[in-house]
Amino acid sequence: MITPDNHVALTNQQLEEREELHAEIVLNIPLSKVFHYAIPSGLRKHLRAGMRVKIPFGNKTATGFCVGLTTTPSPYPLKDIISILDKTPLTNEIMLRLTRWLSSHYHCGWGEAMHAVVPPVIRCRAKLQLAEKNKLPDCKNISDNQNTLQQHLTFTREQQNAFNSIHEKLSRKEPGVILLHGITGSGKTEIYLQAIDKVLEQGRKAIFLVPEISLTSQTIQRIRSRFNRVAVLHSNLLGSFYHAQWHTIREDKADIVVGTRSSVFCPLKNIGLIVIDEEHENTYKQENSPRYHARDVALKRATYENALVLLGSATPSLESYYHTLSGDYERLVLSRRIGELRLPSVEVIDMREEMRKRKRHHIISQKLEYSMGQALAKNEQIILFLNRRGFAPYIHCKRCGFVLKCRRCDIPMTFHKKRNITLCHYCHTESPPPQACPDCLASRINYHGFGTEKIEDEIAARFPNHRIARMDSDSMRIRDAHEKTLKAFERGEVQILLGTQMIAKGLDFPNVTLVGIISADTMLNFPDFRASERTFQLISQVAGRAGRGSGGGRVIVQSFHPEHYSIRYAAAHDYEGFAEKELEFRRQLGYPPFGKLARIVFRSTKEDRVRDKASSVANTLKELTNANGNNLVILGPSPAPFTKINTMFRWHLFLQSQNYGAIHSIIKDIEDMLKPSKSVQAIVDIDPYMML
Ligand code: ADP
Ligand code: ZN
Repeated sequence: MITPDNHVALTNQQLEEREELHAEIVLNIPLSKVFHYAIPSGLRKHLRAGMRVKIPFGNKTATGFCVGLTTTPSPYPLKDIISILDKTPLTNEIMLRLTRWLSSHYHCGWGEAMHAVVPPVIRCRAKLQLAEKNKLPDCKNISDNQNTLQQHLTFTREQQNAFNSIHEKLSRKEPGVILLHGITGSGKTEIYLQAIDKVLEQGRKAIFLVPEISLTSQTIQRIRSRFNRVAVLHSNLLGSFYHAQWHTIREDKADIVVGTRSSVFCPLKNIGLIVIDEEHENTYKQENSPRYHARDVALKRATYENALVLLGSATPSLESYYHTLSGDYERLVLSRRIGELRLPSVEVIDMREEMRKRKRHHIISQKLEYSMGQALAKNEQIILFLNRRGFAPYIHCKRCGFVLKCRRCDIPMTFHKKRNITLCHYCHTESPPPQACPDCLASRINYHGFGTEKIEDEIAARFPNHRIARMDSDSMRIRDAHEKTLKAFERGEVQILLGTQMIAKGLDFPNVTLVGIISADTMLNFPDFRASERTFQLISQVAGRAGRGSGGGRVIVQSFHPEHYSIRYAAAHDYEGFAEKELEFRRQLGYPPFGKLARIVFRSTKEDRVRDKASSVANTLKELTNANGNNLVILGPSPAPFTKINTMFRWHLFLQSQNYGAIHSIIKDIEDMLKPSKSVQAIVDIDPYMML
């Protein structure tokens, strides 16, 4: 630590040069304000933007980030910085610009943005020393473990054409965006790898973003088999490992960084390419402050770095796809699977018809059951998908209609049969299943609906001689359970793999010839303008698990809304058809990608306070909009679909406009109203993905 006490002698000239300077400091608080501090003479020589400093703040001390030095005179006397905490800056000029943009675009404090860019483990000195002391093998230098590298594959013609366009863009060393739109198994990853190679040849570096690290171990292995000097960053890494990888990157010992959304902030220099695999995935959006979308941050960072952004997906987000229609991004299409494998045929089962025929609701249709029997008889494997864990999502009284809800959340409790508990999926409150109705005391408790546990029971009863593995966050709580289950499936010891979105993407098992989607409706019924898009994406992704071997493949989709366009187009593997229809709907309503959206959520333990606050903010917004005559629409306020989570009552409102400008300026105008108060919190979410 450098303090005024261990003063280092400066030449008079150096002192003179810096005398007029004072420091611009930001703190990890939800305020965009920059605070000015005087720099004691002993610290002047050392302080740089990007370093952390200790400062007096109110009647306490606080740690802040220095984001700049300025000579602009201050109208009032400034307090002195107490000490500097870093020997070298933790961020460079580009990251300072990027964090300032984050703060203004996402309406968070600049300090909050700095804290996202420099993760806690890097800021924590104790862990830093621990890692240095232990000298973990991974900590030192990743180029110690040189692999014998594998050769790149020879491209198919389609891949080669796509690659040529990417290569051409890369040679310009200018910012740009390409959307690689390729069906599942069309060889996108091979293109990413060879594009990275080109960038390294230019003496530049690459970031490779993946939606979830646990699902992409295959991808990481492929990258490591082609390149040395690969660093991996994700939040599941133990602190000291994360720290070691981060410093490896900072010290220029890595050429490629693979990681989840926060890796978009990694301290890699001289970046030529940012790959975003499965760019449509929601996991790229962060749900706490700063509420950024890694794709949008990558686009911004790339403009500062003169880098190319390569977005890849089989089912691109409508935002990205729309940019290709308008010509902002280039779209490259891979329409064939490698090895001329066909996409599986998809059959949609009308569950209403099924119910009429069989007189009552069966979770597994006759067609699915029959097809499963056929596949198993041929020693083929099956994947079953249901996006709902637990045994039954509703516990209600058959006499009075009472529904058992979480006391903290006002959300129905889910029955988990294996653990014999009722569980709230939002706050994780558990309680024993009720023996009688808590309301009318009748012993007529009924478990309604179904989750993966119930499907497991049903399948086990129908196919007692075959092994089933269930993969959801309940069954995967044990360490390594994920890898073990997939290995058992790969070896054929398990014939039926049943799971939630954990099994929706990335899995590549050639012996899987049948995929069953138990209910395509779970997503469709969400009060969310992206519900159709998510349904389309999910069916396409899950269907993509079938037919990856010579045995061909088929998919059976069960639905109570088989006529819905998202299901019909997914069954026909028709992305363009879906996009055209969905874009028309979005255009009419002014939703993204046509309009921009912001959501303000209000939370309080007091129901009346949260309602009053939401109403007064909405009124002010409406008054300002009328006065300014800008084209802004205020929707709401209304109770959020989840009216209470974790004892907090919730209201929300939406701001909708053709561009960000009007949204940003009106939020700035009401900044004071949104300041955190004791009774009500207000949360601004730009480009929201959570509508509940
Ligand atoms: P995607 O990322 O589009 O789902 P992958 O890159 O995983 O597709 O490719 C699917 C499979 O085809 C992988 O097993 C991959 O190794 C293989 N593959 C990709 N490109 C080629 C090629 N040019 N020649 C031979 N095999 C290839
Ligand atoms: Zn709860």
